[in-house]
Amino acid sequence: MKPFPFDDLPPRLAALIAIHPGGGCWLWQGADSGSGRGGGYGRVKWRGVTQAVHRVVWQIAGGRVLRKGEQLDHECRARRCCNPAHLRPMFQPRNMKLAHARRRADFVAEAVR
Ligand SMILES: [Zn+2]
Repeated sequence: MKPFPFDDLPPRLAALIAIHPGGGCWLWQGADSGSGRGGGYGRVKWRGVTQAVHRVVWQIAGGRVLRKGEQLDHECRARRCCNPAHLRPMFQPRNMKLAHARRRADFVAEAVR
């Protein structure tokens, strides 16, 4: 998707996001979903609903509507990141498989970067 400028974020969200100088991640500093399974994702109450921050930012940035079963994959692998340029819609099974493959390939990826 086309780049979305950080400055266009609503101030209430921008105030809780720190831009990582290295990879350009927008790291959420507010509440998260805890440390358990499915944890570590930023959470925010937005339009009356507590939801994942990266999904909220995705919508604000004009990202397309997700289909049933689709979720937003973090290409940067930082769960707290909500930079829309780092997010990619993906169906869950592939996402999970990919996460598994990525864990195994971790050291290879680190070496390439
Ligand atoms: Zn990121």
